[in-house]
Amino acid sequence: PPTIGVLALQGAFREHKRLLQTLGAHVIEVRLPHQLGGLSGLILPGGESTTIGNLMVEYGLISAIQEFHAAGGAIFGTCAGAILLARTIHGTPPQFGEQPSLDLMDITVQRNAFGRQVDSFRTPLDVSGFETPFPAVFIRAPVIAAVGEGVEVLARHQDQIVLARQGNVLAGSFHPELTGDARIHELFLNMNRSAQAVGSGL
Ligand code: GLN
Repeated sequence: PPTIGVLALQGAFREHKRLLQTLGAHVIEVRLPHQLGGLSGLILPGGESTTIGNLMVEYGLISAIQEFHAAGGAIFGTCAGAILLARTIHGTPPQFGEQPSLDLMDITVQRNAFGRQVDSFRTPLDVSGFETPFPAVFIRAPVIAAVGEGVEVLARHQDQIVLARQGNVLAGSFHPELTGDARIHELFLNMNRSAQAVGSGL
């Protein structure tokens, strides 16, 4: 089975771990760079992207995850995780300071694009390649406001891009770990099969 890391600094990492385990993956909680060694894929969970980003800077994980990606590791960012993958991030309040980013996907994200916490919602989402809609939970979710040329759009909600893929990097606005529907995680595990386990040289 593939070994998948889940970034476990803050946010919804336990739910991802549980769902991946039901799919037979071996799961490692990642808090430090050396824990990326031997993984084929990494999930960046939802949570609060400025907090997660600042902790990533503090623990040396920005460059480590960039190296993991360069070495062929697959990455899936959900919600705050998708924000952290983006080249350009809009909507961070100025008092939060500089928003850290991995810059691993040629996308622009708009944070909190659907309003405040009370505007969180669940909706059936048509996802490219899925036969039936996916139950998508949006919690103070971002949207992908613009994509570069190499980016494939996989789902839209009301004309806004909410799931996209560039090579072996996947980004989604919503929380696929909260509904028990494992199809997005299966999609990510399939991306891992084409990726290789990244050596322990990291
Ligand atoms: N609103 C959060 C942010 O901008 C993301 C919310 C989430 O991950 N559910 O970081």
